[in-house]
Amino acid sequence: MIYQRSSQLFAEAEKVIPGGVNSPVRAFKGVGGTPIFVKSAKGAYLFDEDGNKLIDYINSWGPMILGHAFEPVVNAVIERAKLGTSFGMPTALETEIAALAVSMVPNIDKIRFVNSGTEACMSAIRLARGFTNRDKIIKFAGCYHGHSDSFLIQAGSGGMTFGTPNSPGVTQGTAKDTLLAKYNDLDSVKELFESNKNEIAAIIIEPVAGNMGCIPPKDGFLQALRNLCDENGTLLIFDEVMTGFRLAKGGAQELFGIKADIVAFGKVIGGGLPVGAFAARNEIMNYLAPVGPVYQAGTLSGNPLAMAAGLEMLKALNSEPAIFQRLEQKTAYLEKGISEKLTQNNVKFTINRVGSMISVHFDENAVTDLQTASKGDNDYFKKFFHGLLQEGVYIAPSAYETWFITDALTYEDLDFTINAVDKISKQF
Ligand SMILES: *Cc1c(COP(=O)(O)O)cnc(C)c1O
Repeated sequence: MIYQRSSQLFAEAEKVIPGGVNSPVRAFKGVGGTPIFVKSAKGAYLFDEDGNKLIDYINSWGPMILGHAFEPVVNAVIERAKLGTSFGMPTALETEIAALAVSMVPNIDKIRFVNSGTEACMSAIRLARGFTNRDKIIKFAGCYHGHSDSFLIQAGSGGMTFGTPNSPGVTQGTAKDTLLAKYNDLDSVKELFESNKNEIAAIIIEPVAGNMGCIPPKDGFLQALRNLCDENGTLLIFDEVMTGFRLAKGGAQELFGIKADIVAFGKVIGGGLPVGAFAARNEIMNYLAPVGPVYQAGTLSGNPLAMAAGLEMLKALNSEPAIFQRLEQKTAYLEKGISEKLTQNNVKFTINRVGSMISVHFDENAVTDLQTASKGDNDYFKKFFHGLLQEGVYIAPSAYETWFITDALTYEDLDFTINAVDKISKQF
């Protein structure tokens, strides 16, 4: 396949946009080469500016769970746009999607809509801090909660219990309130509770980690966090921006039977428009302005086009519970096929999967946290990525990403992908 026009477009973009992209991972820094510029997409396929057709395993990093240009969503957006695109005043549509979301997700009474997953997580921890009157939060190394300052924190060195900024521009003052624990390591969480008695407002976690590859929580891990929170008067925040409306109708809370205190959403909930949301039971949500003292706002929050898209997406998922089974079956089929081919071709690998989240790691050892995820063979991943791209299969241009399976994929597409994996893994 030829990517000439994409390369030209990238060169033009680099002149006026930092790195040519509006979000860093799109720039192909992790794999080399230049990004593909998309012209359009339909169902499971991307059509790029060079006229190539690609099977898409990113799906806008999750939202297009029913495929690109899903007709009910597209039509709803077109019809709403004719009625005006933003008012900064309440609409009936907002209540409709809120009521539907609340009915689908366990353990939430109220939901507030924002414009991104970043905003949702940022607002969730502010609410938790206000509600508990405490400053510190625990996050897990390798979990991603968007790019707000409190989350751009890496593990501190040596004996320090607090994190340090992992981006210039994040202050030490902010970093000192974010404590870093290890995913799937309960002792690392207990230690933080012991050394910060009565200071921890919340634990925030991806209930299935999806931003260091896909990493399932070990048996009992989430329940143990729930118990620790209860013992310490700390809130448990599930960042379900990736898992929400994907792993089940009610997300990871439903799948694992664990109640979180606050849940953050994004991606699927917006049906491909910029939407995030956070939700909790009344007692907590009523702490939010204008009812309570914790401030949170947005000029475009609850935007009618975004709400129309999200509503159609949630309606589709709500009306056909079999979607989640189908997604799981397709992803399991892909897992089995890729596993067989890589094994036959003597590649060292591990595949992690929960429902329709799946990641291929080029290391034979179990991948259970950031440290083990970092051990994968990056050079092999680069060849794998570019090899698949040449075959017309597009996976995320980074070894630390989950593949996002869409229901629009057919078993033919999956077989095509498995055969592409066979072909390229024979070559290297
Ligand atoms: C994508 C993601 C975010 C950030 O959402 P944006 O809409 O990109 O701001 C937060 N948390 C998780 C788990 C995510 O996967």
